[in-house]
Amino acid sequence: MDGSSPRKVLRGIPVSSGIAIGPAYLFHPQKREISRHPVAPENVEQEVARLKRALERARKDIQGIRDRIAGAVGEYEARIFDSHVLILRDEEIMGTIYSDIRENLNNAEYAFYRRMNQISDRFDQAAGGFLKEHLIDLRDVASRVIDILTLSDGGKDAPEIHHPVVLLARTVTPSELAQFTTGNTLGICLETGGKTSHVAILARSLEIPAVSGIPWKELSLEPGQMVIVDGNAGQVILNPSLRDIKEHEGRRAAHWAHEQDLAGLRDIEPVTSDGKYISLAANVELPLEVESVLRHGADGVGLYRSEFLFLGREDMPSEEEQYQAYRHLAHHLAPRHVTIRTLDAGGDKPVPALQVDDERDPMGWRSIRVSLRNPAIFKVQLRAILRASAAGNVRLMFPMISNLQEFREAKRLTEQAREELRAQGLPFDENLEIGCMIEVPSAVLMAKEIAREADFFSIGTNDLAQFTLAVDRSNERVSDLYEPHSPAVLRQIQMVVEAARSQGIPVGVCGEMAADPYLALLFIGMGVDELSMSPGGLLEMKRMTRAISYEDARRSAREALRLGTATEIHQWLEDKFRDLFVRLGLRRGTGAG
Ligand code: PEP
Ligand code: MG
Repeated sequence: MDGSSPRKVLRGIPVSSGIAIGPAYLFHPQKREISRHPVAPENVEQEVARLKRALERARKDIQGIRDRIAGAVGEYEARIFDSHVLILRDEEIMGTIYSDIRENLNNAEYAFYRRMNQISDRFDQAAGGFLKEHLIDLRDVASRVIDILTLSDGGKDAPEIHHPVVLLARTVTPSELAQFTTGNTLGICLETGGKTSHVAILARSLEIPAVSGIPWKELSLEPGQMVIVDGNAGQVILNPSLRDIKEHEGRRAAHWAHEQDLAGLRDIEPVTSDGKYISLAANVELPLEVESVLRHGADGVGLYRSEFLFLGREDMPSEEEQYQAYRHLAHHLAPRHVTIRTLDAGGDKPVPALQVDDERDPMGWRSIRVSLRNPAIFKVQLRAILRASAAGNVRLMFPMISNLQEFREAKRLTEQAREELRAQGLPFDENLEIGCMIEVPSAVLMAKEIAREADFFSIGTNDLAQFTLAVDRSNERVSDLYEPHSPAVLRQIQMVVEAARSQGIPVGVCGEMAADPYLALLFIGMGVDELSMSPGGLLEMKRMTRAISYEDARRSAREALRLGTATEIHQWLEDKFRDLFVRLGLRRGTGAG
């Protein structure tokens, strides 16, 4: 620390947990100057051949990175780079570039650069966050090919780092990160990329703490000055004081110790002290999370949000592509169950190909409604899920059902998909269970009738709360009214559990409320069979489950449900369980995040 820049604390989005402390490495990708110069007509074929050689070289380089990642992290993560190879192999795109060289006598780098810019502009205009994240992949490939064409050394890799650093950048492409990562990247601070960006996914897989959303212009520091990246709190401290460093060293040690301590619970059963088994399952957005599901000792997947396959693209995933993703989960997690929820497009999850892209419409045109109005597209998904059921223990689940008719219609289309597969001789699980998400108040009121025709229920508390309280969950102006402890929400959950009980079907909770130990304890007391949450919260929840008795949870649920306001319920739970949760070291249960 030379003290030339002052200490600065910046807040961003935590995208990969853990704490990193180390010297800064400011990464500026080199800017290329691409100029146009005409090619002599007799040299045109040579110019095309030069481009083809560059594409081949880029393909080999990417293949090398892919293999490195496959060895270091896993085959599934390595597939990120398959999309890069696909861009290079796209004959239509490359064909237009060859024509540009031949017909307009443009030099290879100019023709290539021009075409890539056109495509990336289209991407950029097409939609919000998700598509933009994949733009990084396209730019990654484009700059690799241009490097090969323009630089005398035939294309440079990201600079090698020979000592441990914290990487700070505006953006980093997956392949740049893969090259940096020879064990020397302690942490990452980025301006762009959300939790689902490929870089964030790689960071989590490589267990590198990372924070995104930190504006590059705020990074007023010199290379080598100290930086702290706190991937738990989403905080970055530039030029930290000695006190900051000591404090974060303590937190880092505590984070590691806590993780190690919890890891010991992985293979232990989630049973209450008086012997009631509570299934603890994972919410998953991407098939590559299989490893994390296993590492956190999940009983299975309580919610696989299949819409993540549909986001960030202009086309729809084919049956085969969907089948491969679902099969991957089913196969690797068998005999554990994998609950595949059909497309829940809408709200903050736009799917432009289905005209579901209005973020201001969280209630109307979304989810199962879109699927039922597009039966041909819906059936492609149903066929893919059914086919995957032959590879493991798959359950099928429909989101945002608001009446019995919708549930029947979704089941009727599933039956049609089954008939088609039978006729084609394609295998699937004839006993596949079909469940229903209960997340709309009208479905709560009709839960008994729906339960008669369903194999299981899963309560989506995120939507149930927003629809019950008339509070759009992504509208900050009313966020104080979004009260998870609301008795109106909790009483509905109790009603759904009773409806499920009366028809003898199991019921789970898969919204964010399931990950809050206080509320989870109430759900256990109400008789919920499964709690499903992000894998990172599972081991703490197992610890809580093992420390309480079902009898006490039942009594607590009864008493809490008598109270009249969210604040009273919250306070009552804190008074009764806070000491226990602090003793158990539950981070989420102590208000420490
Ligand atoms: C929910 O609504 O609680 C839920 C789990 O689904 P999502 O958050 O994907 O809408
Ligand atoms: Mg929902």
